Amino acid sequence: IHSCDQQKVKKSLSRIIERASDSEIVTMSCHTFKHKLIYTEMVCIPTTFFGETAVQIILRDISERKQTEELMLRSEKLSIAGQLAAGIAHEIRNPLTAIKGFLQLIKPKTKDRDQYFEIVFSELSRIEIILSELLMLAKPQQTASMQTLDLKKIISEVTALLETQANLNGILMNTSEIEEGLLMNGDQNQLKQVFINLIKNAVESMPDGGKVDITAKAESDGILVTIRDEGVGIPESVMKRIGEPFLTTKEKGTGLGLMVTFNILENHNGTIRVDSQPEKGTVFHIMFPAK
Ligand code: ADP
Ligand code: MG
Repeated sequence: IHSCDQQKVKKSLSRIIERASDSEIVTMSCHTFKHKLIYTEMVCIPTTFFGETAVQIILRDISERKQTEELMLRSEKLSIAGQLAAGIAHEIRNPLTAIKGFLQLIKPKTKDRDQYFEIVFSELSRIEIILSELLMLAKPQQTASMQTLDLKKIISEVTALLETQANLNGILMNTSEIEEGLLMNGDQNQLKQVFINLIKNAVESMPDGGKVDITAKAESDGILVTIRDEGVGIPESVMKRIGEPFLTTKEKGTGLGLMVTFNILENHNGTIRVDSQPEKGTVFHIMFPAK
């Protein structure tokens, strides 16, 4: 029994033994012999065993139920965040445009304050980046223009875009394992956004360089795309909350990339799975329905 729950379980059992209650239901987490943590529900009923006072216990594994509850909670959070984000991003964007415009106008008159202007402009661009990521959240519902797309073409356009940044960081992008003629239904820009977000994360996970492998192939139930890096891996604490808004371990991160990615994939009826090992690397597996 997990140490957090031991007291609770002890108390329930003694209440039953002392016949202070008729029956009790307690939820607790347990470690199995294979060191897996499972959630259980324990029903305790007073009974006698060879004439002695005893407790009969029924244990049920409710890990799956618990997981579904967590998923429901998360999707609720996501859709509320999406609605909020869209509204706020629009409201902030307009005044921001005015601020930027007028700042540009005053700039030439204050040459000696150049470094301040640089900071102000770079902070403004950061706000703009965050806003455009937030706006992506709202778009899937609004103006997704679905069409037939060639996956290889989409991915190669994205890698061409990211090539320079990758090269500068000593990173090689390997796209040799992408099959020809993989067709799917989707919104071109949104799908590009998905690959940009995932490949950027892969690149950023390898500060000392390395390799990003991107593969795509037809499977019996759809198209499988994988993006694999040799980076730092995702710590358990982040993995548990992966896809939550503003969850970031990077100094300059927004913590919105994966949330946007998951949202877009959901709108394309795709699924995503993450495998990660600390210091070894991370693989994102994406499954799209074939056209
Ligand atoms: P950001 O990149 O702005 O931090 P994301 O939503 O893209 O936000 O990612 C959230 C967090 O998930 C990152 O800060 C990082 O800790 C973790 N993460 C995502 N992808 C990877 C990866 N390929 N390797 C290691 N960590 C990752
Ligand atoms: Mg990111």
